[in-house]
Parts: sequence; C-alpha cells; structure tokens
Amino acid sequence: MVEAALGQRVVRGPDWEWGDQDGGEGFVGTVAGLEEGGGGVIVQWDMGQRCRYRCGRDNKFDLRVLDDGPSGSCREFTSLSCEWCGKEDLVWCVWRCTCCLDYYLCNQCYHNDRHSMWHPFFRLDNPDNKRNRVRQSSRRDSRKVVLRGAFPGSHVVRGTDWKWGNQDGGAGTRGKVIAVKDWQKFSLRSVAQVQWENSTKGNVYRLGHKGKVDLKCVESTAGGYCYIHHLPVMGVMYVGPLDHQQLSAGDVVKIELETEVLKLMQADHGGWNDAMATVRGLTGVVSYIHCDRDPEVRYNTNHIFKFNVDAVSKAEGEEVFFIGDVVRVVEDMTVVHEQQKDGPGWVDDLALTLGQVGVVTKLTVLGHLQVRVNGRRWVYDRRCLIRVTTDLLPQNYDEEDVNLTARSQLLVGMILPDVLVPAAAAGDTNTVRMCLQHHPDQVRVLLYLKHTVVTRLLDNLSSFPDKFFTAHE
Ligand SMILES: [Zn+2]
Ligand SMILES: [Zn+2]
Repeated sequence: MVEAALGQRVVRGPDWEWGDQDGGEGFVGTVAGLEEGGGGVIVQWDMGQRCRYRCGRDNKFDLRVLDDGPSGSCREFTSLSCEWCGKEDLVWCVWRCTCCLDYYLCNQCYHNDRHSMWHPFFRLDNPDNKRNRVRQSSRRDSRKVVLRGAFPGSHVVRGTDWKWGNQDGGAGTRGKVIAVKDWQKFSLRSVAQVQWENSTKGNVYRLGHKGKVDLKCVESTAGGYCYIHHLPVMGVMYVGPLDHQQLSAGDVVKIELETEVLKLMQADHGGWNDAMATVRGLTGVVSYIHCDRDPEVRYNTNHIFKFNVDAVSKAEGEEVFFIGDVVRVVEDMTVVHEQQKDGPGWVDDLALTLGQVGVVTKLTVLGHLQVRVNGRRWVYDRRCLIRVTTDLLPQNYDEEDVNLTARSQLLVGMILPDVLVPAAAAGDTNTVRMCLQHHPDQVRVLLYLKHTVVTRLLDNLSSFPDKFFTAHE
C-alpha cells in the first residue's frame, strides 16, 4: 500500500470528479497536508489551486502517487540495480519484468520505454515485501500521458508557502525553473532551482520538501511521459500477489498431464520432443516467457523446453535447485535432523554446517543434493536447504566446482539458437543483452562454434557485462 505522505508528488486518480482543478490530466501537485484518520489529503497543485481530496474516505480514491521521493519516506531496494542504465540501490518504485528472469528497471527507464514493450512488468512498491507486487498490462497496450507542471523550463511566481521576502524581486515577478534537485540524501527531487527575471540572482525553493511549496507555476512545461495508469493509487491496499493466474519468470512450475495429452497440446506450441516426457512431474523454473505467452522451463536435469502455457501449473511452495546454486543450510537442528534421518542420513558433523552457506555441486539419483560447505561435501535432503542470492557467496567457496558444472551444462540446454540468433539477425539489442546477462555460458558456446550472426552482433555492441568478457578470454 502506498500511504499518503507530506511532499509526495501526485496526479489525478481513478475516482477524480473535480474537472480541471489540477490543471488537466497529467498535471502534477504536492501533498501539503494530511487529514486526521488518513482518509484524505490537501494537495497544492503546481498551477496554483489548493484543495482536499479523498484517499480512502467514502471508499473513493482521487489521486495516484507519481513520486514518493520528495516525502523522504521511501526506502532503498538495496541489492537491486537497473538492468538498463545500471543505477544501483533503486528507490521508488522498482519494476520487474514478468517475462525475463531477474530483470529490473528503474522508474525512469520504465516510463522511458526501455526493454521490450510487450513484456508486462510488476511494480514493486515496498522493499520489505517484494512479493507484494502489482502486475501491469504491457506498455504497448497502455496509454502514455504527458506530465505537466513546474518542471525545468517552466515559469513560476512566488506561491503559498513563500517566506523569502523580496528575494524574487517583488510579488508577481516571474522566474524560470532551471532544475529540480534532491534536498540532502533522503528528500529526493523536492526543491527547484529558480532564476528570477531581471536579476542575476537564483536560488533553490521548496517543491515538496516537507510538504511545502514556495512556487506557483504560471506557464507549465512538459516533464516527460508517464504510464499514468501504472502508478499506485494513493491509499489503496494491494493484497498479496495479484498474479496467481499468470506465469512469470522465476515461478516454480510442474507438468502433471499424461504424455499423450501433453503431446497433443504441444502441437501448435513449439512441437514435441520425446525428452519432454521425462520432465513430467518434475519441478522446473520459468526462465523466459515468449511473446505467445508460452513459458520456457528450465529443469535441473539439464533440459530447457518451451511448453504450451496451458500445460503448465504453478508448484506453490516448492523449490528447484541447480548445480552452482548458492544455498544456506536450515539453522534449526531439529528440522534438519528430522529430514536427514528419513532421507540421505544424519551424521553429527552435519551440525557444524547449520546456517552455513554453500554451493550445490551434484544432484544425486535419489533427488538429494550434494553441497560444498566449508570445503567439504555433504549430502542434504532438499528441504534442509534455502536458496540465497549470489551476492552472499561465502568467501572460501570453490570456484572450480561451479565452473566445471557450468561447462558440462553448456551443450545441453540450447535455447539460445531459438532466441538469440533470430534476435541477433534482427538487430534486437535488448534481447541480445538479456541473453548475455542471463545465459552467458550458452552465448559462449555459440561463439565457440563461430556462429557468424552472433559474432557479428557482438562485435557491434558496445556494452557488455564485464564478467562475460573476462570469462570468455
Ligand atoms: Zn534505469
Ligand atoms: Zn523482459
């Protein structure tokens, strides 16, 4: 839920019935007061009007939050960075692609049409609850609105909260907004640099900082485009993941159909391959969603298949582990003891590994996992392990283990000829970049095989993940 906070920049929302009080659709205002009880706010519009609006009162919602930055209350999504521009530790808000695995965009890149336009995104509002994500329709199917107000280039006079004497040269004197800036680290985009007319003087004034607005816009300017219907509605509680019916990259899935049924369903969906029968009943991870909505599913048996979306169902609460995955051993001794004694067995030394981080080195025929922890290999029941993100790699983990198995996986799951080669031929650098980021090993195989289209495209591309090059050399 995005709660009202002083300083937030807002635009009109779904229940708006107040004509052009705001200046028109896309015009921006600032939350300048909060009603007791939380059902309403006072908004100071850039164009000068100041009124009360509902954000829950009478079950009506007049506003959407355009930018939580000026309120100073938005927090960092530490460890998330924008795949497009590289910006790190993203704040308000973060967008995650539903088709590509672990693909995040910053707010600016999202509204500026970066990445594939037909890939729908999740909006992540709250770093504490990444599961509380809200799925949006694809930007190709959504309307863009021009934002207007006191953006750089607009003309302003002194406004409601002005308390700076005749710094502007006297009431009614016009000035030009030169830039919108952060005020210290935690009140972002909350002040405007203004150059006053007939004066060499300029200064910085509040435009949201602590809910104050020193300026009134007399001639607005455009502040870029925005997918206005993708912005959170102020005061609306979004409950749980709203995407339970739809698949997205990263979901754990299963196929529980009879082979003959599956075979029929594959007919117009990429076709049948006898090896597909072997993954029935196994859990896999969605690694990509194709434009026809069919998922590509990766199994730890080294298979990657594109399935008819209707043949696949979500396996809630289940996990899949791959060789090379970084995992943490469950900390609770009783849980580990319980699972191990009915499974791969308990030895007292296992207690030394509780809570430790390791790398999956082997999948046993019985479905157990061999994990290297503290330089030794142990066999665990999968329920004793939790996947952790790769940035938590233990200092002393053995690089050899991971690289060897990655190499053996190379020649098997060749999804890239289907994805990368057509993209490379069409000059679709977005997709090529994504392949480089998520499947560098497979790109390397194509290079090794001297695939001309890929080699040529790689020669022409300017920015690669550094990791890719070092590994390739
Ligand atoms: Zn970005
Ligand atoms: Zn995507």
